[in-house]
Amino acid sequence: MVELNEVGTETKNSVFGQIELMGHEQVVMCYDEPTGLKAIIAVHNTTLGPALGGTRMWQYASDEEALTDVLRLSRGMTFKNSIAGLNLGGGKAVIIGDAKTQKTEAFMRRFGRFVDSLGGRYVTAEDVNIRTSDIEYIAMETDYVSGLPEVVGGGGDPSPVTAYSTYLGMKAAAHKAWGNDSLEGKKILVQGVGQVGTYLVELLHKEKAKIYASDISPERLKHVSDTYGAEIVAGDKIYDLDLDIYSPCALGATLNDESISRLKCQVVAGAANNQLKDEKRHGLQLVEKGIIYAPDFLINCGGVINVAAEYEGNYQRERAYQKAEKVYGICTDILKKADDERITPQEAAMKMALERIEAMGRVKLPY
Ligand code: NAD
Repeated sequence: MVELNEVGTETKNSVFGQIELMGHEQVVMCYDEPTGLKAIIAVHNTTLGPALGGTRMWQYASDEEALTDVLRLSRGMTFKNSIAGLNLGGGKAVIIGDAKTQKTEAFMRRFGRFVDSLGGRYVTAEDVNIRTSDIEYIAMETDYVSGLPEVVGGGGDPSPVTAYSTYLGMKAAAHKAWGNDSLEGKKILVQGVGQVGTYLVELLHKEKAKIYASDISPERLKHVSDTYGAEIVAGDKIYDLDLDIYSPCALGATLNDESISRLKCQVVAGAANNQLKDEKRHGLQLVEKGIIYAPDFLINCGGVINVAAEYEGNYQRERAYQKAEKVYGICTDILKKADDERITPQEAAMKMALERIEAMGRVKLPY
């Protein structure tokens, strides 16, 4: 049963306490001594179909931090897949470790074996620090994987489609803020110019926005500055800039007490997952400040649409872009629903996703 429980920093401490609060079906700890692989696979909800969601590799400060991350991310996938209109449930995996030094063929293939052991309840794909080359190794051990390179018949890197849906969601929010959706001349800060962020910058550049970029990687900053004329902003200064749109495209929880109190913008619309540190409190704080928030799990759904299109078979990139185009209309509807029902856009989006899960759950009743 998926519930709209509040998930924030004050989650219960015990493992089952957290699982109970968020309503997961299954959480699997994976360990392989020879390769040093440590991973957690979380299957949140399979009402709509197999739980699809990418694998993230990160050097977490603790196992608890990794568990919290995978639980939140997999729950987010349930809502994202539902609102994207996919017949797929929500799941996610995290690998604990250093992506620069630990990834080998054996390491990734062992991970593929763990995915396979779930018999299709969980389907994996890319996320932060997992590339299509890693996916190829995983695919040697399991069919429950998507996001293969285009040269071997896969959908390739989903990031351009993610950037496209994020851009459309941003435009829908802009329409609500300013009465038209043109981004020309708008001051937009893209925080994190990695795979998605850079494609987003390209789209914003085409629309003649005034782009600011921040990242911890000097090379990535140089690239967007040289190629698209983005102005580089140093770390913490980003929250004090006079902006129209803040676009978080790095990691989660950047919308918190401190950042929201400083933010000067009218719209927040970005690709990062779990931007609101506390869904309820920080969603509300944005409303109180008059900032329009385009829910992250809706507007970044282009990537999963692309990955799902490949998993369904007979992949065509144009079809994925066509499906991603729906995001503009859905985002517009959600912002209206939030106003009508006097709830935050995040709550409106989650309610809409939940309504679909409940409706589809009934479709599958035997008679
Ligand atoms: P990426 O690793 O290519 O890019 C992330 C970028 O953020 C990197 O350039 C990194 O240096 C930068 N970064 C890290 N910490 C930072 C900080 N504190 N301040 C500024 N920059 C920082 O990842 P990506 O694939 O572009 O994904 C970005 C976000 O979008 C993630 O939250 C991911 O979960 C989400 N997302 C990605 C996809 C996709 O298709 N790739 C789909 C949906 C959601």
